[in-house]
Amino acid sequence: MNRDAEDAPGADGTPGAGTVLGPLDLIAALFAGEGGAEYLGEAVTQAGHMLQAAALAEDAGAPDHLVAAALLHDVGHFHGAVTGRDLMEGGRDNRHSHTGADWLAHWFGPEVTGPVRLHVAAKRYLCAVEPGYSALLSEASVHTLRVQGGPMTGAQARAFEALPGAADAVAVRRWDEEAKDPDRATPDFAHFRPMLERLLLRG
Ligand code: FE
Repeated sequence: MNRDAEDAPGADGTPGAGTVLGPLDLIAALFAGEGGAEYLGEAVTQAGHMLQAAALAEDAGAPDHLVAAALLHDVGHFHGAVTGRDLMEGGRDNRHSHTGADWLAHWFGPEVTGPVRLHVAAKRYLCAVEPGYSALLSEASVHTLRVQGGPMTGAQARAFEALPGAADAVAVRRWDEEAKDPDRATPDFAHFRPMLERLLLRG
């Protein structure tokens, strides 16, 4: 069993001195650090947005792997060589969904990484197949939709539906859209940590 993530946490929940950081310590630190940054012009921080998406999934009775995917769906924004701000200003798709999924795949299986990888495609899919879906998008998300290729064509939508994890990605996407409420109280990262612990791959 991987004990790294559990060794000697400090009183404030951070790892003790000399502790080898495990993946969940690393992710917790990202939420506490970079996660406090603004989220592409939205009214919530990056961490607040991701915690809200996870809380929405949990409230909906979603299975653990989907709550985890909702919680971690934008983790690629923390790591991309091209930042989210560059995405907004420069018109480039930073492929944060793929960056995040590839990073998470070190510790989590495809039931978690699949929806993360496909959550941008799921927006393009939903805009193609659901009349009125694009009206649900925030201003920033409308902008990034254009950068990300716009709504899918019919053929692209059919191909998307055939991908493993596509339905899960659509579910995560709906929570993603909803998780931008500055007034919604959400649990903190520690609330979700035991669930993430259960999902870690045991190598
Ligand atoms: Fe998001």
